[in-house]
Amino acid sequence: MENQDDTEAVSNQENAVRAGLQSFLNDLHLKYKPLRDGALANYIPELAKVNPDLFSICVMTVDGQIYKVGDEDRLFTIQSISKLFVYGLALEEHGRDYVLTKVGVEPTGDAFNAIVLDQRSKRPYNPMVNAGAIATTSLIKGSGPTERLNSMLEMFRRYIGHDIFVDISTFMSERTTGHRNRAIAHLMLNFGMIDEKIDEALDLYFQQCSIMVNCQDLAVMAATLANKGLNPITKEQAIKKCYIKDILSVMYTCGMYNFAGEWVYKVGLPAKSGVCGGIIVVVPNLMGIGVYSPLLDTNGNSVRGIKVCEELSQKFGLHLFDCSMNASKFL
Ligand code: GLU
Repeated sequence: MENQDDTEAVSNQENAVRAGLQSFLNDLHLKYKPLRDGALANYIPELAKVNPDLFSICVMTVDGQIYKVGDEDRLFTIQSISKLFVYGLALEEHGRDYVLTKVGVEPTGDAFNAIVLDQRSKRPYNPMVNAGAIATTSLIKGSGPTERLNSMLEMFRRYIGHDIFVDISTFMSERTTGHRNRAIAHLMLNFGMIDEKIDEALDLYFQQCSIMVNCQDLAVMAATLANKGLNPITKEQAIKKCYIKDILSVMYTCGMYNFAGEWVYKVGLPAKSGVCGGIIVVVPNLMGIGVYSPLLDTNGNSVRGIKVCEELSQKFGLHLFDCSMNASKFL
């Protein structure tokens, strides 16, 4: 009888915490909706014409519970957030040692699209800058462009749990304006870091940036990483468990453009953002967070997204090195 009372008390507490999380998300949304700081990415029309008021927050726990507020169904292109997943695919297809010969794991103080390689090794610094991302994309196996694209889309499907598609006008714009990326690819070809099919690799890179997702998809993908690679909804293994630590480590040190240091100091979680205004955050063994708001700060990170993540981390003690809090108590 006592045991039953105890179980009931625990589940009441859990319900209260879960209700607390939903109302905290609602409050955050209300608080930051009026914030109009920042600017839309404008290097292609598809990003420049987005409604700046769009704003959504979505959390998925590793047991598949979902909490969401705002425009969580609204589709946008995944942009740089794709890089960490393609890095995972490269690791699965080639193994850690080989991938490390092609791309490093060192943060840079340079812009994400800098035309620069590590002077000694000639490798791109890490898979989260464009050079590293183009290198990992060029590693995707397949007998031609269609097979490679399908293999990439299939990988994203495992994380998201449903079929996805590439937005053709974004892809065409990325391709037409992608001169820096082309220069980076030529530099890597010069040093033998990628093979000669650079147009194919670049097209695939532009396609991966143009994949359509919504905020809920980001949360599911993050929750899959938080759940050791197992999608909490479909129960499909999206990536081998042994590569989760590689992906999360690189997200932790290199995921937030030139804000990465301040981000880990304040939020303390592996994350990746993109010029679309999305941020994906992983709380290992607990939950995934997706935030979408397209107004960006000068680092290229979503202004509202950063605020939301800072508050969530603080409120629930999610910082990985916060000894005073035990996040698992809360969920
Ligand atoms: N498509 C962009 C590029 O390659 C991605 C930018 C980003 O989200 O950081 O430049």
